[in-house]
Amino acid sequence: MNPHAPVGRFAPSPTGPLHIGSLIAALASCLDARQRGGQWLLRMEDVDAPRTVAGAANTILRQLEAYGFEWDGPVLWQSQRLDAYRAVLDQLVATDLAYPCACSRKEIADSALRAPDGSHRYPGTCRSGLPAGRVARAWRVKTEAGRLDWQDLILGTQHEDVWREVGDFVLLRADGQFAYQLAVVVDDALQGVTHVVRGADLLDSTARQIYLQRLLSYAQPVYAHLPVASNAAGEKLSKQTLAAPLNTQAPSTELLRALRFLGQNPPAELNSATLAELWDWARAHWRLESVPKLRQCVIDPTEEPLRG
Ligand code: GLU
Repeated sequence: MNPHAPVGRFAPSPTGPLHIGSLIAALASCLDARQRGGQWLLRMEDVDAPRTVAGAANTILRQLEAYGFEWDGPVLWQSQRLDAYRAVLDQLVATDLAYPCACSRKEIADSALRAPDGSHRYPGTCRSGLPAGRVARAWRVKTEAGRLDWQDLILGTQHEDVWREVGDFVLLRADGQFAYQLAVVVDDALQGVTHVVRGADLLDSTARQIYLQRLLSYAQPVYAHLPVASNAAGEKLSKQTLAAPLNTQAPSTELLRALRFLGQNPPAELNSATLAELWDWARAHWRLESVPKLRQCVIDPTEEPLRG
């Protein structure tokens, strides 16, 4: 494989079936990779065992197939990658870039420092060693002050100082699970991902991921963050807001809806097109530049059926 060929990916967490919000990310990442002449990979992000729902991964695979998605190569399952995450954590510990932390959530909350997403900024209590008599709960990466700048292909110039805004963040959680930030960075590097196209709900994670890529001397992918689909009340569509699972009986209708949301303007004739015709049109007409430059956008509220 040409190591410089474009590679995109879709990386769902199997916490439930896909809904229109996840379809939007799957579709945009796929069309973007194909338009670049690249591969499009599928990664099942089942690293968070307590949040993984039995049967959800298979439902997601069936939904993607019913919608006509074709990914390259075998699916990468994060639950089978724990040794790789462990090796990277060990490497960071050995080079004094990660350290054990004994702090409970409450102790961190009591420090009263808050990160922009409302979580608590870690004040660095255990950075120079565990306090006497305390045992390690989580493992954190050592961050250094300094502004990270990057270009998002949709949202434009972004910047964040991870040390100031988040602090030393968790790589291995107190419940023994590897953190999303570590797993995603290790896997994007392993899979040679060059283009990450995903929802803007993950924009706040990007600086942490770039921070880790630099520490580990990994190549930095290009990022494009899509508007997150919300209901008329402004709530992100998710299981919590009762977003309906993707209907595998009417894939064309939902694909059209996703294309419209992505600013692609499919012509009315496509309303009666077959799934194959829709994909042909989408591949031929995809324009990343037409995606609304917003972090969140309301999707046809009248067409979003609620689960009973
Ligand atoms: N697994 C994450 C999610 O479903 C997406 C990770 C990513 O695209 O970086 O929200």
